[in-house]
Amino acid sequence: MEYRKLGTSGIQVSVLSLGSWLTFGKQITDATAEELMITAYEGGINFFDNAEIYSRGQSEIVMGNILKKLNWDRSSYLVSSKVFFGLGDTKPNQRGLSRKHVVEGCHAALKRLQVDYIDLFFCHRPDKSTPIEETVWTMHNLIQQGKILYWGTSEWNASEIMEAHLIAKQHHLIAPVMEQPEYNMFRRDKLENEFLHLFKHHGLGTTIWSPLASGVLSGKYLEGFPTDTRIGIEGLDWLKNRALAEDRIEKAKGIKKIADQLGVSMVKLSLAWCLKNPNVSTVILGASKVTQLKENLESLDIVAFLTEDVMHQIEFVLSNKPLLPEF
Ligand code: NDP
Repeated sequence: MEYRKLGTSGIQVSVLSLGSWLTFGKQITDATAEELMITAYEGGINFFDNAEIYSRGQSEIVMGNILKKLNWDRSSYLVSSKVFFGLGDTKPNQRGLSRKHVVEGCHAALKRLQVDYIDLFFCHRPDKSTPIEETVWTMHNLIQQGKILYWGTSEWNASEIMEAHLIAKQHHLIAPVMEQPEYNMFRRDKLENEFLHLFKHHGLGTTIWSPLASGVLSGKYLEGFPTDTRIGIEGLDWLKNRALAEDRIEKAKGIKKIADQLGVSMVKLSLAWCLKNPNVSTVILGASKVTQLKENLESLDIVAFLTEDVMHQIEFVLSNKPLLPEF
């Protein structure tokens, strides 16, 4: 395993980490979740990603029970939560980034995860109806109280992150350290364009999500529709439609050809492509089976296959490189 600094903070995160969205407390049994965490930890993964909304709190409950049972040294791993969506309830103040919901969300996540503190605490989305200043103060205070160690954002845009930094600087508060954006061969703009200034001048770290675009970049949807997958889960039609969009399948076919020529699996090639970006601090893996996770853990060995020539071939297939202004 390789470890990278989370931006310019002091914390080191394994470059591959394990997430729980749609799997823990939903698609897989608790026994499989435990096996996944053991496989991850033994493979050198030190970061486990979670959120209050995942399976409406159940994902954190499952992960908390496993952490308690396995009793790993608390200093040997990082666990996250994300606040914004609540548990899916819709009364006023049960979601968002107000001081009330952020504090209550933190307390509830601590209980579900059965830990004394959360290592990485994310604002899961921007809250257009709460002043960013209120959220920055709240996160700073939670750090001062020892309830969280680092805070960050997810799917915020560059100007929102920048505003949080400016407020933190103005009041001598602790600024956000990391952002959690989607990043994969289909979604590149934030990592490769919008955030470049934040990487260079504000030391932003990233914990990127959906590196396989929900499994499409494993190649398994290129010939038919396997039944035991996440996009077959009832109520996830939006994900299915996005995942199986024609242009994605076409590009995936081209990536598969390159993987075949290199003699590597498409999964490993797609994950290695994410790992190659130095602005990625950690690639959060999702897996519903232990065999998948074991394969994904081998992707680090494939980064060396991504020569300039191979990257050009991939670029040709994707044809979506963000355009940067010329100087
Ligand atoms: P991926 O895009 O990598 O999708 C993971 C899914 O792909 C697996 O559950 C599995 O689905 C399939 N898969 C994984 N490995 C293989 C393999 N070797 N062969 C075949 N299929 C495979 O990541 P996720 O979308 O799960 O995102 C990762 C994590 O990021 C989440 O768990 C969560 O922690 C975080 N996240 C954060 C978000 C945010 O807004 N901040 C949003 C979404 C995710 P299947 O069961 O179908 O086979």
